[in-house]
Amino acid sequence: MSKTLTIALSKGRIFKDTLPLLKHAGIEPIDDPETSRKLILDTNVEHIKLVIVRASDVPTYVEYGAADLGVSGKDVLMEHGGEGVYEPLDLHIAKCKLMVAGRPGMTAAGSRLRIATKFVKSAQRYYAEKGEQVEIIKLYGSMELAPIVGLADAIVDLVDTGNTLRANGLEPLEHIADVSSRLIVNKASLKTKSGMIKAFIKQMTEAVELNLLESNK
Ligand code: AMP
Repeated sequence: MSKTLTIALSKGRIFKDTLPLLKHAGIEPIDDPETSRKLILDTNVEHIKLVIVRASDVPTYVEYGAADLGVSGKDVLMEHGGEGVYEPLDLHIAKCKLMVAGRPGMTAAGSRLRIATKFVKSAQRYYAEKGEQVEIIKLYGSMELAPIVGLADAIVDLVDTGNTLRANGLEPLEHIADVSSRLIVNKASLKTKSGMIKAFIKQMTEAVELNLLESNK
């Protein structure tokens, strides 16, 4: 009986940046998830399937074994907790930074800071480590609006070019963590499909190295 390998991916940046790595490993999807409504994509390799899920759901699919492998941002893994999955490889794609941002010259003025974010656990951990008491307000998007309308003093968000912050009169203030996408693996699959998974990790490792060499040219 041939075993199937299922890889969980999210649409958008992660899919786009993972595609060339998969190609290096000889894997190409038959359908394009940006145009297809299919959530399970066949590939040119018969036993390898891709499942398209929300970025924040990738660790859950992999933790419960609904997918053997997944590609997940470090930001998502930090929020998920990362327990229950192995994280064998930094893919060095979809890079950005998790940062505190606010209006230029923003200060707490002696009172407890209000921080708006969707990265609640990462923000809590960051301020707890600094020994600073803050109030965290959970938002699901458009965090940049919060300091402008007075909902919060600052935000914790992903920053790439900084353009989104600048367009809203904000600036990056404190660096919390470097973020990139990681290959994650279900713990049981690593035992039951050990040969296939190890071969896949090896191919992806080579693909990452080639990718890094090419981007440094
Ligand atoms: P930028 O304007 O280039 O600094 O990009 C910031 C916006 O893009 C924010 O809304 C972020 O949530 C999002 N963003 C930037 N980099 C990433 C990434 N690697 N993964 C997911 N979202 C990102």
